[in-house]
Amino acid sequence: MRPGSGRGLRVARDGGDHVSVYWCLMEVLSTVAAMQSARAATPGSVALVPTMGCLHEGHLALVRRARAENEHVVVSIFVNPTQFGPQEDFERYPRDPERDLRLLAAERVDAVFMPTVEEMYPPGFDEWVELRGPLTERLEGAARPGHFRGVATVVARLFRIVQPHRAYFGEKDAQQLQVIRRLVRELHLPVEILSVPTVREPDGLAMSSRNAYLSAEERRAALALSRSLRAAERLLGNGVTDAETLRRAARDEIAREPGVRLEYVSVSDGETFEELEQVERPARLLVAARAGRTRLIDNALLAP
Ligand code: AMP
Repeated sequence: MRPGSGRGLRVARDGGDHVSVYWCLMEVLSTVAAMQSARAATPGSVALVPTMGCLHEGHLALVRRARAENEHVVVSIFVNPTQFGPQEDFERYPRDPERDLRLLAAERVDAVFMPTVEEMYPPGFDEWVELRGPLTERLEGAARPGHFRGVATVVARLFRIVQPHRAYFGEKDAQQLQVIRRLVRELHLPVEILSVPTVREPDGLAMSSRNAYLSAEERRAALALSRSLRAAERLLGNGVTDAETLRRAARDEIAREPGVRLEYVSVSDGETFEELEQVERPARLLVAARAGRTRLIDNALLAP
């Protein structure tokens, strides 16, 4: 399967004598025009799952949910340069399109949209979607200036091109999920936003394409993030609703692991992402920390 190839009969050689002929049902589209004409020819409900590729079980959970709830599933794979800061990992972000396409074909995805940067952002482009306020300016917004502007801009463009009825996002990026919900509300976009809980490794580490950067030692140390969430959740389960006590429990857990450097712990309102003093209704506990050079985030719902 190569980007640009459509549905139809395929012949694959394994390098030796083995030749297989198979019928491929998944379209791989690399231009905006091809995506738009495929969309125009598609009746029925269409779901979009936006990703940056290097797929793992977290992404596949979104795809499976989309598959179960819609007639057609489009997955986009686009490492979006506008959501990376100048000092961030855009260039070295892990990419494995051949493997991604194999995984998506096995999930019976109908189409994969894999545009180039020039397709998404034609030379001289200058149209941005920027939502202001604490939601985009605190936490990830403060740590990564311009990040949510890049996210909102690319998602608005993807929605315009693909025109999905529904789009699926992970709670792993809880603040991003809320930014997308606000984007849809403020721009009156006719898309229903659905969310899927964070998929974790058996030991608790939240799945992330960036986990590929971790050495064995960093991977072990990174478990402090999910442990810190559990520590605060335990306190909440015992009736502690004071946000500072919950933040301190999470911070202490991370401080016990010298292999990670804490950036923030937050107990935030789940809609505005403003810091709370008391957890009186469902809220988000969020952590960001570095293991070596790799920046990791994780979060949990706090339901008192
Ligand atoms: P990304 O490729 O990192 O941009 O992620 C694409 C989508 O997959 C986003 O909606 C993420 O929130 C979601 N996602 C990433 N990791 C996970 C995970 N471990 N569990 C559930 N969803 C995830």
